[in-house]
Amino acid sequence: MVWLDYIIKDIETRFAKQIAAGEPLIIRDEKTLSGRVHVGSLRGIVLHGLIAQALEEKKIAHKFLFELNDYDPCDELPPFLDRAAFEKYLGQPLFTVPSHDASAENFPMVFGNELKEVVDRLKLPIEYYTLKPLYEAGKFNEVIQLALDHAKEIREIYKVVSGSNKPDDWYPLQVICEKCGKVGTTQVTGWDGKTVTYDCKPNLVKWAKGCGNQGQVSPFDGRAKLPWKVEWPAKWKVMNVNIEGAGKDHSAAGGSRQIGERISEEIFKYPNPFDIPYEFLNVGGKKMSASKGIGVSAKEIADLMPPYLLKLLMIRKQPNQPFDFDPQGTTLPLLFDEYDRLSELAANPKPEQLDFARLFQLAQLAFPKSEKPLWQMRFTILSFVIQMPHLKIEEEAANLKGSPLSKEELSALEERAAYVKLWLDEHAPEQYHYRILKDPPEDLVLDDEQKKALSILRERLEKLESWKGEDIHAVIHAVKTETGIEAKKIFAPLYLSFIGRESGPQMGWFLSTFDRKEVVQRLENIVLL
Ligand SMILES: [Zn+2]
Repeated sequence: MVWLDYIIKDIETRFAKQIAAGEPLIIRDEKTLSGRVHVGSLRGIVLHGLIAQALEEKKIAHKFLFELNDYDPCDELPPFLDRAAFEKYLGQPLFTVPSHDASAENFPMVFGNELKEVVDRLKLPIEYYTLKPLYEAGKFNEVIQLALDHAKEIREIYKVVSGSNKPDDWYPLQVICEKCGKVGTTQVTGWDGKTVTYDCKPNLVKWAKGCGNQGQVSPFDGRAKLPWKVEWPAKWKVMNVNIEGAGKDHSAAGGSRQIGERISEEIFKYPNPFDIPYEFLNVGGKKMSASKGIGVSAKEIADLMPPYLLKLLMIRKQPNQPFDFDPQGTTLPLLFDEYDRLSELAANPKPEQLDFARLFQLAQLAFPKSEKPLWQMRFTILSFVIQMPHLKIEEEAANLKGSPLSKEELSALEERAAYVKLWLDEHAPEQYHYRILKDPPEDLVLDDEQKKALSILRERLEKLESWKGEDIHAVIHAVKTETGIEAKKIFAPLYLSFIGRESGPQMGWFLSTFDRKEVVQRLENIVLL
């Protein structure tokens, strides 16, 4: 069984009654839209989306709600913005900050739209909502009232769980200042059951300056917001959340999840949602971002690969394992290879391979519906073919497959070729760049054993009936067995003589891409060297 199915089993146990009653299980996740969304956020989104798909598979009613948080204070400006023009908005709720991009209604939705565009590619059953309308419609009034009435208990929970000491006059609420519109700078000073008094403080936070206003106002219907650690459990109650995992940054001992659990149960009288703590996704290329300007936003990483591969990347490790993605290393070709291997296994799995088959099924965008696996050209082979002016991609694909490609396979090939080209142009390490040498390298030295084996190989290849990769492969294998030579000793000079390095794409196929005469001639040359 793969990790997801253990999670689903636990969910079925915990929510057996609700499931039996046919009430939908509510799954929730969110992202605060204060800047371009980091690729790490996709891990949580795919995890929750996959749970929704697995519930769908079991015909268990569910909804996956994803919050585009536009209500938090704007506490930083992305470096690409004109600071002088936007500085005045620091401290205001995000939705009040104007858009720097005409296609979005406001600043946070520039990032929200970009995230949606990336997530939509993954075909997850996701329903988006923004936070502002919920506060304005009074959906948070009840939890705001409870938080204010129980300010003392909340301060106590903060203290016991995280050791943070809040003063006796601290209330878990921030009013949107009636004078300057900022929310990040205000502090509630009193609560009479109907209205709060507040101060807009010049020095409450480092990133924004309050105006000094003091006021008294109703805290309801969108005039105030709860601080994160109280707002999170408040959202569970308001949205009837049953399932919500959290990233490592929130899941530590004394962290916001633990505080949230206690506030949810003790103040809001709402059960802690089913939790799935998950680890970070690291991007190996921190040094690259400076040198090559490659960022680590969800969109930038998603643009490097087809959506099915992005989904596999996010689910191939258990949630509690961190993983690293390095666009400039070998992560991408290895990931393509892994997908293809899983695809082959999934077509006809042995009993011990069922987990691999399941993982492949989960990575399918149509899951829980099944798709017929397509024949695909291996990434490394494709990257070689693309760099060889004498080769045609479609022809080589048909040769390798042994029959013409179907319409779906052709379009998958085109799609994959585009990703390979992009990777070769912008990220691929040197070992993936191929250039055919005009002549074998002069310093290529062979011992007698190699000379003998390669001479035999030359004769056999000259007489070989067909010039197909599999037949060439069989001949090389036969020569290897007959002469007892190590594989590396026969392969290395062949690769070296054509591409100047000791390894390359699969040898039989590799030689088949050249004219037979040329291969024979080159073998003769290196034996005589
Ligand atoms: Zn103010």
